[in-house]
Amino acid sequence: MSAAVSAPPFVAEWHLAGDVRVVSTGWAHGDMAGSSPAVEGRRRRVVELPWTVLQQVHGSRVVTVERPGDGSGEAADAAVTSSAQAALAVLTADCAPVAMASPEGIVGVAHAGWKGLRAGVVEATVQSMRRLGATRVEAVLGPCIHPCCYTFGDEDLMELEARLGRHVRSSDREGRPALDLPAGVGTAVHNAGAVLVGQSGLCTGCGGGLWSWRAARTARRQATVAWRA
Ligand SMILES: [Zn+2]
Repeated sequence: MSAAVSAPPFVAEWHLAGDVRVVSTGWAHGDMAGSSPAVEGRRRRVVELPWTVLQQVHGSRVVTVERPGDGSGEAADAAVTSSAQAALAVLTADCAPVAMASPEGIVGVAHAGWKGLRAGVVEATVQSMRRLGATRVEAVLGPCIHPCCYTFGDEDLMELEARLGRHVRSSDREGRPALDLPAGVGTAVHNAGAVLVGQSGLCTGCGGGLWSWRAARTARRQATVAWRA
């Protein structure tokens, strides 16, 4: 059994099927990127289990974590596990952190930016969870960039519309074409046969208290972490 230890209030927090807990951190929890003792300490203050932190490359490869901590540093954008002692994390500054769980206690996380959505990372994660025995899959979406702050090139937008539907096209706060990343994630989750049961609703660009690549060109990252509680 594990419990989150004394951490400031999380930016988002859910309990999912299979006793799976999901939290998203923000500025108050410190930078979660890197591998220094300070970073390890911050991670332990969120949850004292071995974290799997991938080297995220905007693709669709999924790592299956058999022993807690497995897969750390591997070039991949999603992780799944049936282990009760593993914490699966994605680090984000604008991309969408998606965490998933099934009543069987299968856990999955995916790092889904627009390239990951195009590559099918959400669908690949759900498939990998099903291979581990997941039946009904619930998903939640942590803080990510919203259309208000996500001005987007028309050509890339058309490609994503072709894959995910017209509703992913939106406008930024000045009326220019923008990608609705949360809408795209919602469609990918639905297409994968999973159910989106929660989303933080916070924009990393303008929500406050969150790191944003678009807004600040920062290398710092918040974490969305999932584990069986
Ligand atoms: Zn915004």
